[in-house]
Amino acid sequence: MSDRNRPGRRCRSATRCHALFTILAVCACSAPAQTKPAPFRVLAIAERGGLHRPFVDAAKAWLDREGKSDFSVDYIENTDTIDEALLARYSLFLQLNYPPYAWTPVAERAFRASIEQGSIGWIGFHHATLLGEFDGYPMWQWFSDFMGGIRFKDYIATFVSGTVHVESASHPVMKGLGSTFTIENEEWYTYDRSPRPNVRVLASVDENSYTPSTTKKMGDHPVVWTNEHVKARNVYIFMGHHAELFQNPAFVTIFHNSILWAAGRN
Ligand SMILES: [Zn+2]
Repeated sequence: MSDRNRPGRRCRSATRCHALFTILAVCACSAPAQTKPAPFRVLAIAERGGLHRPFVDAAKAWLDREGKSDFSVDYIENTDTIDEALLARYSLFLQLNYPPYAWTPVAERAFRASIEQGSIGWIGFHHATLLGEFDGYPMWQWFSDFMGGIRFKDYIATFVSGTVHVESASHPVMKGLGSTFTIENEEWYTYDRSPRPNVRVLASVDENSYTPSTTKKMGDHPVVWTNEHVKARNVYIFMGHHAELFQNPAFVTIFHNSILWAAGRN
């Protein structure tokens, strides 16, 4: 082998070699691509079809754009494949459109363990508080406690607009929001009691702002909250019926903030 082609030919001088190494090290440390965290993985559960399909389709399109190189999403339509090994592969569990019943016992145990141990983050929308006896299933008491000890009571079938007040402006999930925002044409659920004594309320709806007005009210009415009694970073976001939510900057901001925070990225 000629000297010209030998590996390390340029480093025959120790001084030159050290200088080259230093330059490479400095380049590596200052290059943004090297400091960006690796993409994280999200597992999203959403029932196939049904009333909320347009919301789910809009969410998938938005998540595709939003994820880019930051995260990737795998979708499931039921809990059959959920166990500890599956959940261990993900940073975030997204309950996009799925109730807290009709879970397999293995899925229930794995989810509960992951939330209690903080090995996964969680964001739940809308149907995640369908807590009670539905479709022949009993209420999952642990999930009710996770959601602040509530039971689903009713919903505003006529759909009304409402003003939402940000309560914990300093929380990362509320970053970039004004003190209030409007959610149009929503199905607002009511519960047997406010979850407030058991959770940290991030936002609540002013029932007096309902347009058109309705008598279906629960008084103190949190709509975005987090349960700080479990190790997992978690956010419940009540909204999640209409696809048009993805045209609402406040909703999109909350979703974006929640993903990064619940996945441990801010
Ligand atoms: Zn709905």
